[in-house]
Amino acid sequence: MYIVQIASECAPVIKAGGLGDVVYGLSRELENRGNTVELILPMYDCMRYDHIWGLHDAYLNLWVPWYGAAIHCSVYCGWVHGRVCFFIKPHSEDNFFNRGCYYGCEDDDMRFAFFSKAALEFLLRSNKRPDIIHCHDWQTGLIPVMLYEIYKYHGMEYQRICYTIHNFKHQGIGGVKTLEGTGLNQPSYYFQYDKLRDNFNPFALNYMKGGIVYSNAVTTVSPHHAVEAQTSDVGCGLGHTLHLQKEKFTGVLNGIDYDFWNPEIDRYIPSNYTWDDFEQKVYNKKALRERLMLGHADKPIVAYIGRLDNQKGVHLVHHAIYYALSKGAQFVLLGSATEPAINAHFQHEKQFLNSNPDVHLELGFNEELSHLIYAGADMIVVPSNYEPCGLTQMIGLKYGTVPIVRGVGGLVNTVFDRDYDQNLPPEKRNGYVFYEMDNQALESAMGRAIDLWYQQPKEFTKLAIQGMQYDYSWNVPGAEYLEIYDWIRHKW
Ligand code: ADP
Repeated sequence: MYIVQIASECAPVIKAGGLGDVVYGLSRELENRGNTVELILPMYDCMRYDHIWGLHDAYLNLWVPWYGAAIHCSVYCGWVHGRVCFFIKPHSEDNFFNRGCYYGCEDDDMRFAFFSKAALEFLLRSNKRPDIIHCHDWQTGLIPVMLYEIYKYHGMEYQRICYTIHNFKHQGIGGVKTLEGTGLNQPSYYFQYDKLRDNFNPFALNYMKGGIVYSNAVTTVSPHHAVEAQTSDVGCGLGHTLHLQKEKFTGVLNGIDYDFWNPEIDRYIPSNYTWDDFEQKVYNKKALRERLMLGHADKPIVAYIGRLDNQKGVHLVHHAIYYALSKGAQFVLLGSATEPAINAHFQHEKQFLNSNPDVHLELGFNEELSHLIYAGADMIVVPSNYEPCGLTQMIGLKYGTVPIVRGVGGLVNTVFDRDYDQNLPPEKRNGYVFYEMDNQALESAMGRAIDLWYQQPKEFTKLAIQGMQYDYSWNVPGAEYLEIYDWIRHKW
């Protein structure tokens, strides 16, 4: 099959979160299975150009229709760790992708509406006719809409779309301006409830809703989240739309790229190991302590890696630090906050705890350090408010770092409580799960994990090794996506 992935991120060249990992990892898996895969991405000024090999111009004069006129773009091509990527660079005063950031601009709705238009225009003009176009998240939600309403009539009638939602929270809200810009004329048509009209604001257009309504298949990133999204508030208002489209909506668990996240071959950690020589992991713990100037004591290290925002349960992350210290554990946090108040809070905590040899808070984004933490810590805590899939618990498992998670979204599909899971035999369990969103619930799970580490170290190691034996690679999800692609190619 010939598959084109269109997204706003692809790790490691453009990565703000899990979306980037997924776009890269899935593309690689599909290619390993004999398909041709290409990616279309925005050419941000701040992306990691050092991860692109052989960047060259591929299509210099792409004129993208916009507001009845056209914007001149150039398309560059390069290899990101083996994947063929096309980067779209507009030459206009809007400076859509020269903002020093990926997201967070006031006109994000227009920036990504333009990107979606430009990606389709590039496919059309360069005569690329993939079997499958796979779009991701709100940034590309307008692609299926434009394909079906415009590009189908220009020779792209056979392209089929799979649309994956990684996070329902951000849906992309536009208005009449979006329609004028993209050439989707007739506002009264698109503002209908069964098209793009937001389910709650009748004056807003919802890009993600458009993606759901117009795509041939819609997925989210874990089976549990697919159910939650239809039946609870984690669908962020799109539950009814998903329910109406349930025939084509399913959950596919994300995978982890084991070429990158694998303690056996990880080049960012000083001591490689597998479950077979688990005792080598301790050298990474030593290195982590040295790097972060933590005391060398006989204590477990609990880690948190991730964005610091309400989705991730920041108040529980905060509590986890102090609870770990009170239980005689050390704590390492690697995280960044975009919200100023949360950032200020953790900056303050960092200063307050600065001289404590048992804790280190690293505020910022640091891919290399994250590898050392996964390898050096004993436990990783993921107390999310909601979590569509979650990668950190799966990476933790691969590194023999026992996950302590809240039972929501993809965390339910990947972590099975050592003491209470009734569905799996003890030798298949791999971590700790709590359910309520409060301190006591967190403490009950963290407390059990820390107690096991102190009181039955052999049992703790056994649990960590059981986690390492799980296969959360792209192997299974890759096959599932191919089945979906196959289904939509033959069904429509
Ligand atoms: P998200 O909701 O952010 O997509 P995921 O758990 O799906 O959360 O993916 C998070 C990914 O980003 C993981 O690969 C994790 O290691 C990485 N990550 C998150 N925050 C940081 C950080 N501050 N520094 C380095 N890597 C980070």
